[in-house]
Amino acid sequence: MTTIKHKRIELPDLPYNYDALEPVISKEIMTLHHTRHHLSYVTGANAAMDKLEKMREGLGLELDYKATLRDLSFHLSGHKLHSIFWTNMKKPEKKNIPSGAILEKLEEQFGSFEAFQAEFAAAAKSVEGSGWAILAKDNEDLHVLEIQNHNLLGAVGVNPILVLDVWEHAYYLDYQNDRGKYVDAFWQVVNWGDVTARLAR
Ligand code: MN
Repeated sequence: MTTIKHKRIELPDLPYNYDALEPVISKEIMTLHHTRHHLSYVTGANAAMDKLEKMREGLGLELDYKATLRDLSFHLSGHKLHSIFWTNMKKPEKKNIPSGAILEKLEEQFGSFEAFQAEFAAAAKSVEGSGWAILAKDNEDLHVLEIQNHNLLGAVGVNPILVLDVWEHAYYLDYQNDRGKYVDAFWQVVNWGDVTARLAR
């Protein structure tokens, strides 16, 4: 019988140093967030794949299949979202306004850039517990969605082009319980060049 192998996930490098987003996001948060939290999703997704592989080889007789699929969904989604999140950010700028294709699209779909910001921020601020605000592309349309954990309340088949992690681990050391302040500061570090490139894909 052929050995079925899924490619294991590796933690991607950040496209900048851990202190690059200061003072909006501290070096301490970025270091822990990348090397502990993101890594745990990579490890968790790989562990689920290990279990499923053992099952396929007939060695996973006591596998809790439903729990393993839940783990795969959670950890794989967590890995995907963090990978987008890192590249969605860059060194902060006080006046960090999008231009070109992304600005036109946001104006067309939300009325104005400010209206889009308000909608995205409202999603980020209203996530219950842990989650994300995402701007996702579905063919020619852009949708703001609110993700619970990493994998609930999303929409299958849409492509996130801008994501904001609002789990407490993403901001608590810098902003304590003031998620709103973190969300408002996030605009300074958005890499609109990356968002524009994702829009064009
Ligand atoms: Mn996170």
